Amino acid sequence: MPTNILNLPAYHVTHVDQNDHDYHVKAEVKAPLTACLHCRSDSIVGFGRREQLVRDLPSHGKRVGIYVDTRRFRCRACSKTFYEPLPAIDARRPMTSRLIEWVGKQAIKRTFASIADEVGIDEKSVRSIFRDYINELEKTIRFETPKWMGIDEIHLVRPRGVIANIQNNTIVELLPNRNKETILRYLSGLEGHQQVQYVAMDMWVPYRDAVEEVMPQVRIVIDKFHVLKMANEAFERVRKSYRESLTPKQRRGLMHDRFVMLKREHDLTDQEALKLSGWLSNYPELGLAYRLKEDFFKIYDASTPEEALARFAAWDRAVTAEVRDAFSDLIQAWRNWQPYILAYFDHPVTNAYTECLNGLLRIMDRLGRGYSFEALRAKILFAEGAYKKQLIRPKFTRQRKEPEVAIYGFQVEYMASLSPTNQHKDADREINFGVDISTLTRMIESGDI
Ligand SMILES: [Zn+2]
Repeated sequence: MPTNILNLPAYHVTHVDQNDHDYHVKAEVKAPLTACLHCRSDSIVGFGRREQLVRDLPSHGKRVGIYVDTRRFRCRACSKTFYEPLPAIDARRPMTSRLIEWVGKQAIKRTFASIADEVGIDEKSVRSIFRDYINELEKTIRFETPKWMGIDEIHLVRPRGVIANIQNNTIVELLPNRNKETILRYLSGLEGHQQVQYVAMDMWVPYRDAVEEVMPQVRIVIDKFHVLKMANEAFERVRKSYRESLTPKQRRGLMHDRFVMLKREHDLTDQEALKLSGWLSNYPELGLAYRLKEDFFKIYDASTPEEALARFAAWDRAVTAEVRDAFSDLIQAWRNWQPYILAYFDHPVTNAYTECLNGLLRIMDRLGRGYSFEALRAKILFAEGAYKKQLIRPKFTRQRKEPEVAIYGFQVEYMASLSPTNQHKDADREINFGVDISTLTRMIESGDI
């Protein structure tokens, strides 16, 4: 008899055929059925057989099909007929349970097409197994609701909403879009949303409206990064407006030195500072725009909201007519979002988080192609090995005093305190804060997901 190449202990392998691509393995259940599945009577007799083709894990680079010779029985007591149950085989699909589990896990990392090809099933089956697998994970994995929440945009084929835990630098949810209804539905269904204290976001009205509607206790903070980005964009507008009036050589120079102009003044090397001063003195409007960009950044050196507001007012007065158009979006955004922008100066909650998230956003397009949103979401939220967890020991509680009875001169109370059963009555609780953004970034960069 061929050795059990299947490594499925409940089966006898009776025959193995192979060609360049496939193994065809004949097998039968080892332990015969002894009682009726319906009435438990042991008076059952054989009633024929049938061959069932069951797919299994690929082996040695070949696809594997198991032809299970399944026995049929008839019960003398209740007259019902039935097939013997097949151990280790999925109840709903003609596949081994281990194949189902493997496909589910693989589908988080690879395209459905490549898995379908490796196993020898169709892509539709892979998708359906993947859905079931994700539904199971959803039931078992619970992320801690962030006290400090980030709501940002992430580009996965289209703009999506990403919900983050700012204190832990983790992602806890991806939403298919950035509509108010989507955010509303998510936030109101979120367990513990009443305990959220801060939400940091970019200047996107549906986010703000949804947060204020569902979580009125929250302080909304506009992250510094989003505001400063607009100052850079304003400067870029002025720089680009020069292109028309330049010779091709000058234009290339202006493009080439762009990064010098977008750098903060105090970060420039001597050589860069020289380059910059050349541009700024030859092109006065560019010089003015650069100065305004730098001064706008300095608003964020303020240590209170009042100081920031005063700095903004002074800055606003310095924006002269020549460059006002280029800076109008920034000024308008400040006016529309002023209380939320100023809240940052009381609660600068986002420091490490923003940098982390931007690192992820920069490489995100490596992930987007060839996947549905559900698959992308699962890749991110259920990536094995990227969770940030913490074991919480039960709260210290004073031991209850046992009645004090003296035996042999010892106190029973003392002996009771030594007994291990008396100590940890509550189990440790594991808190899952979500997917660590830096780990996820590394995994995407190295192609692990
Ligand atoms: Zn029966």
